[in-house]
Amino acid sequence: MFINGEWVLRDDLKVINPYTLETIGNITSLSRKETKEAIKIAEEHKSVMKNLPPSTRYSILMNIASEIQKNKEKLAKIISVDAGKPIRQSIIEVDRTIGTFKFAAFYAKELRGETIPLENGIILTKREPVGLIGAITPFNFPLNLVAHKVAPAIATGNSLVLHPSSKAPMAAIELTKIIEKVLKSKNVPLGVFNLLTGMGDVVGDEIVKNDKINMVSFTGSVEVGESITKNAGFKKITLELGGNNPMIVLKDGDIKKAVKSCVRGKFLNSGQVCISVGRVLVEDEVADEFIKGVIEETKKLKVGNPLDRETDIGALITPESAERVENLINQSVEEGGKILYGGKREKSVVYPTIMDVNHDNILSKIEIFAPVLPIIRIKDMDEALHYANNTKYGLHAGVFTNDINKAFKLADELEYGGVLINNSPTFRRDNMPFGGIKRSGMGREGVKYAVEEMSEIKTIIINNIQ
Ligand code: NAP
Repeated sequence: MFINGEWVLRDDLKVINPYTLETIGNITSLSRKETKEAIKIAEEHKSVMKNLPPSTRYSILMNIASEIQKNKEKLAKIISVDAGKPIRQSIIEVDRTIGTFKFAAFYAKELRGETIPLENGIILTKREPVGLIGAITPFNFPLNLVAHKVAPAIATGNSLVLHPSSKAPMAAIELTKIIEKVLKSKNVPLGVFNLLTGMGDVVGDEIVKNDKINMVSFTGSVEVGESITKNAGFKKITLELGGNNPMIVLKDGDIKKAVKSCVRGKFLNSGQVCISVGRVLVEDEVADEFIKGVIEETKKLKVGNPLDRETDIGALITPESAERVENLINQSVEEGGKILYGGKREKSVVYPTIMDVNHDNILSKIEIFAPVLPIIRIKDMDEALHYANNTKYGLHAGVFTNDINKAFKLADELEYGGVLINNSPTFRRDNMPFGGIKRSGMGREGVKYAVEEMSEIKTIIINNIQ
């Protein structure tokens, strides 16, 4: 709906506040034909971006960061009413987004190559933009995960079409207004950046299949990610997908710290975080102490309106998502799982829930994406390792131990993109390599690594230098 510098504003789709269930706005839902036209325009602007000097790309990114800073409270409020995220966490998301743009500004000036000596000549490498990037983003970090695609795309000189989730599109729309202002101030033709709102199975699907797109940069569910691997054809793809992230607590670990870390890592954004604690695997000898601590700590969490500064747990993205979770809890109980705390749902809100389950229980096997914590007792480290790896997912794993040998063994043998020692899996810095293996993804984000994914190495070989 922001295409070639024009806003296309229609009231096709309602945007709902997941906590109050009130309509907070309407958005345009682009047709496949309109999406194709927008992609064509973005393609025609590839050379504009490629030829922008690094210093211009740097100042565009720094100016976007400073505009976000000026609009911090407004953006945080938008995230909270659109995605149900508690306001204190939304403010942190906006702060991180500022950092993401600043990191990208640095890399705009650091797109370096190598030289390789040759008899009577030299080999040079340089990084060039891939061309036109199709970015598709999820609802759960509706600003910073957009930034993780837009900022490195600008740093590397790519033009872009962006499809934000129709479940929470408002932060991306506000960011687009900022980008429009900054690009205008630099006299950059606006067709380099296009925001395509609408339904994922229309707009997203067209982005994935369209031959003019050179790279699809996707963050979202494993299911959609798998469909992209089948539909994208001959284009570059990066996939940042879901997880069922184990947190292993061994008897020699610091149990008090493990408790705090687990509760934070499970209940952040009501469990709607790709690196949320998926399941705890705790050694038998310390399981009772750990569970008691987790229940006490969880009792302190305040459930309420995301706009209230005291709130720790807001709403899931839709009432249907909360209903799905309620059904999962019921299924888990039918399979022998015990509710140790919580278990209640009201509209889109699922109250923090702690479950005692075994490895075969439904909650041990899937990505729950909600404030429900399955705890599984294990007899030792080898059993923990076996079950931690016994999954199709491979995003993050956390380990609590004070035994350096066990820490290194687990770091080596856990089949995950990231292993956290003495932390929950729920840790990310925006400049670190981030991504999963197995069904959790392909490629890496974290600005420097996205810059590498979004650029190609060109090799120039110069012969016969006299
Ligand atoms: P989702 O349902 O997969 O949607 C992600 C995006 O894909 C949305 O923009 C969606 O649009 C679009 N989409 C839907 N169908 C499509 C299709 N057929 N072709 C192309 N695009 C399509 O995921 P979500 O529910 O928004 O987000 C939650 C998931 O994202 C979880 O699994 C979570 O673990 C994962 N995630 C991963 C990371 C990571 O970095 N690894 C980070 C955050 C979230 P509509 O919303 O308009 O349908």
